[in-house]
Amino acid sequence: MRLQTIFLTVFLIISVSIVAAQDSVQVKKDVDRVWDNYELYHETSIKNRFVKHSDVQQLIQKNINSGLFITEEIGRSIKGRSINHLTYGRGKTKVLLWSQMHGDESTATMALFDLFNFLTGIDEFDSLRKMIRDNLELHFVPMLNPDGAQEWKRRNDQEIDINRDARLLVSPEGRALMNIAKNIQPEIGFNLHDQSTLYAAGRTDKSATISFLAPAYNYPKDMNASRKIATQLILTMNDALQTKIPGNIAKYDDAFDPRCFGDTFQAMGISTILIESGGFKADPEKQYIRKINFYALLTALESIAKKSYISQSLSNYELIPENSRSLYDLVIRNVSINKEGISFRTNLGINLSQIKGPAFASMSYNGRIEELGDLELSYGYHEIEASQLSLIPGKVKLLLKSEWDKLTQEEEFQLVKEGYLFVKWLDAKSPAGPLSNRLLNLTNNEIGPLKAAGIGQQAQFLLTREGKPEFAVINGYLLNLNQDIQQLPNVFGY
Ligand SMILES: [Zn+2]
Repeated sequence: MRLQTIFLTVFLIISVSIVAAQDSVQVKKDVDRVWDNYELYHETSIKNRFVKHSDVQQLIQKNINSGLFITEEIGRSIKGRSINHLTYGRGKTKVLLWSQMHGDESTATMALFDLFNFLTGIDEFDSLRKMIRDNLELHFVPMLNPDGAQEWKRRNDQEIDINRDARLLVSPEGRALMNIAKNIQPEIGFNLHDQSTLYAAGRTDKSATISFLAPAYNYPKDMNASRKIATQLILTMNDALQTKIPGNIAKYDDAFDPRCFGDTFQAMGISTILIESGGFKADPEKQYIRKINFYALLTALESIAKKSYISQSLSNYELIPENSRSLYDLVIRNVSINKEGISFRTNLGINLSQIKGPAFASMSYNGRIEELGDLELSYGYHEIEASQLSLIPGKVKLLLKSEWDKLTQEEEFQLVKEGYLFVKWLDAKSPAGPLSNRLLNLTNNEIGPLKAAGIGQQAQFLLTREGKPEFAVINGYLLNLNQDIQQLPNVFGY
């Protein structure tokens, strides 16, 4: 009898622990399992951030073919490009999402097409899709500013900033957005943008990869029912994103601006959420941030469908750090600089500005010294402690053009190690502008473009220890000369 009791007890303990173990496996939410399977939904035809209207048109056709979307044209850009509206689902809660009203902000556009692939898929996540379809009516406007996207510029072809046109509605793109919002009267709106990659999340070294805002609807920045829902949805996305990019989430300044669509829609009673995609280390093409966007949007849609966001406490919004413009692409700390015979140690902040490539379909970079002095409250995507190092300008190697043409990467790297950063052709004029697949820059002068380290100067120099080059900064990129050859996105012809 006693033995039986012991066996029974042991059996019960084992059963309970098996059930508990199963529970902990099931704790992983659907959306997180979708994240694990993201590659299944990743729209592979979009390979970089320079998405064009023609890409969007083709992908919309593919989604029409799924039979799950209703599409319509809601307007035309100044150049006559269609502005498209896609509807998915038959639920009660209407949600409007629009992307790329600024033509050079495409991260969310890429993510929307990944999301469409998810929504039209058939697999183990059918219950999540069905829940979204049954509870929500989703309205998408991907790429509101196709003319801007075509030339990779913020504004439309009238030079109007569409996000400052919510009152005057001078732009056809702004009118299309306002019309659809008035026709549909969504409960919730997502205003999808990109921000500078140089924002940090608060006073930290973490980039603001995603920044949120529940825009104000009046100057005193009051809270009302509509803005409360937007805030709670932000908190829901923040909780989820902290598991993927801990510390890389911030919030945008909430000063009221009635020219902006977010603020205007909030005042119209649409719970509007601004999502700004910023930077993430080693993701210049924003393909990881695209995945982060996909995940944030799916998290929000699931939460809206389940109304689970209502459990979020508004006071937690205060805990999200503010955007802080305190990042540089490269920070060099405590380097010795010699200027007109006077040596001193200081810090350098270097940024890469972007130069649009052919057909606005690629990007080159130009590294410049942007700040010099106390950078204690600033951080770099890349940093180097240079208290043992001295900054010296690179030398110019004189070569025949034919010698330059034959130069291998190993030979170029060897020249960098010897202190050369530039080549001047002896027998021809060399071209200006970005050069790819090179380590050495070209110049038509006997000396390089960096005279002395100063604000606005080209970030082209060496960091030496006892006269020997240990690092090179080539066009703003840091190269460790004691490591293997590293590729650079581009160098420059001066
Ligand atoms: Zn924007």
